[in-house]
Amino acid sequence: MRFSRLYVPTSKEAPTGAVLASHIYLSRGGFISQVASGLYNYLPLGKRVLKKIETIINEEMANVYAQEVELSFVTPIEFWEESGRAEKFGKELLRFKDRKDNTFVLGPTHEEMMVNIIRNKVTSYKQLPLNVYQMKIKFRDEARPRFGVMRGREFLMKDGYSFHSSLEDLDREFDVMEAAYKKIITRLGLDFRVVEADSGAIGGSGSKELMVIADSGEDTLAVCDSCEYGANIEVFMDLSDDDEAEVPQYTDIKDLKGDDKCPHCSGKLSLTKGIEVGHIFKLGTTYSKPLKCTYLDENGKAQDMLMGTYGMGVSRLMAAVIEQHNDDKGCIWTRSTAPYTVNILISNIKDEDQMAYAENLYTSLSKSGVEVLIDDRKERFGFKMKDAELIGFPYTVIVGKNLVNGMVQIAPRAADEKIEVPKDELLSRLTELLK
Ligand code: ATP
Ligand code: MG
Repeated sequence: MRFSRLYVPTSKEAPTGAVLASHIYLSRGGFISQVASGLYNYLPLGKRVLKKIETIINEEMANVYAQEVELSFVTPIEFWEESGRAEKFGKELLRFKDRKDNTFVLGPTHEEMMVNIIRNKVTSYKQLPLNVYQMKIKFRDEARPRFGVMRGREFLMKDGYSFHSSLEDLDREFDVMEAAYKKIITRLGLDFRVVEADSGAIGGSGSKELMVIADSGEDTLAVCDSCEYGANIEVFMDLSDDDEAEVPQYTDIKDLKGDDKCPHCSGKLSLTKGIEVGHIFKLGTTYSKPLKCTYLDENGKAQDMLMGTYGMGVSRLMAAVIEQHNDDKGCIWTRSTAPYTVNILISNIKDEDQMAYAENLYTSLSKSGVEVLIDDRKERFGFKMKDAELIGFPYTVIVGKNLVNGMVQIAPRAADEKIEVPKDELLSRLTELLK
C-alpha cells in the first residue's frame, strides 16, 4: 500500500475526556473515529487490525471444529420473553418497533437465537456435540460507555455456543475452548491470565475469564506467583450481579480473605489489574430448559441439552493490545496485530535515488508476502516519522540522506535504538528480524 493513497487521518488532538492510552492513540492514529457516545467508525487501519484478530480467532475455532454462522442482528422480543431475559437485561437491551408494531431487540448476545436455530432440528444424541459461533456486531445500551472501543455500545464480539448430551462432554468442550482461547491471546502477543470468575449458581470452575494484564484494567485479579491460578476478586467477595455494587479498592491481599496463600499451591497471591477480553461459561440447561431445546437420549428419552457459551471481545482486544503496548509516542502493535509490518519511509521524495531504492525494496517485500507500506507522501521527514511512531508499525525502514554513503536505517518501534544497515544487506537483515 502507498501511504499517499491511504486514508489515515492522524491528529495531534486527543479526544476530549480521553484517559486511556488506547482511546487516545487509536483516535489520534486514525484507526477509529467517534460517531456518538459508545459508537465508533473503524477506518482503514482500524479495520485491518480487527481483521487480523478475527482471522486468528477463526483459525483457532476451525481447529476445534467450531463452525461459523451469522445470525440476524435484529431479534424479535418474543425470544427474550421466552427465556425470561427481556426483564433481566433491563435498559442495556435496545428495543424498538417496526411499522407493523412488532417489538424487536438489537442483539446484545445470542444465546436465545442460537438455541432457536438448533432446537427441533437437532433431535438426537447422535447429532451432538455441536459448537457454533459468529463474529458479529453487538449492541448494549451500556449505562456508561467509556474508554473508546474498550466499552462501546456497539462492539464486535465473537460469540460461541456449544450443545451437549452429557455434563462430561460439556466439561471436555469447556477445557478445549479454554485451551483455544489461550492460544488466541498468545498468538496476539499479549500477556494474560485465565481467572476464575463468578459463575453464580453453577459454581466451581464453571466460569472463567481471560484477562489481559494492564494497569488500566477495570477488573482486579488475585494471581498466584508460582502456579497458573488466578481469580477475579469478585469471586472472593461473592459480589452480586448488581451493576451498582461498589467494588472496594483493596491494596493488600490480606484484606480479601485473611490470608495470602494460593488455594492450589503454597504460592503467594498478589493483586493485579486486568482487562476482560474473553469469558467462557458452562450454562448447563439455563437456556435449553425454558426454550425447550431437547434431544432424545440412547433410551429414546427427551432430555434438555447442556450448553456452554464462549465470548470474546474482538474490538476490546484491539484496545487491549494498545493498553499493554504503548509509549509516550503512540501505539506499539504486536507482530500479529499490526496493520502493516514494515513501513518504508522515504525522507525526500524528490531524491531520485531514495525513490528508486525504496520502490525496489517495496516490490521485493511485497513479493515475499510482507505487509508493507511505502511512505511516499510529500511531507517532511519529521512529520512522517511522528506518524510512523504514533501508528506503531513494528518496523520502519528509513531511506534518507545516508543512502549516498550506502547506508539505510531500520527503526524497530519497540526499541529505542535505530539499526544502521548497508543498503545491500537491508533485505536480509529485515528478513532475519521478521522470522
Ligand atoms: P463487562 O464485565 O466488561 O461488562 P460482560 O460480562 O458484560 O463484560 P460478556 O457478556 O461476557 O461481557 O461478553 C463477552 C465479551 O465481550 C467480554 O469478555 C468483553 O471482552 C466483550 N464486551 C462486553 N461488553 C463490551 C462492551 N461494552 N464493549 C466492548 N466489548 C465488550
Ligand atoms: Mg457488561
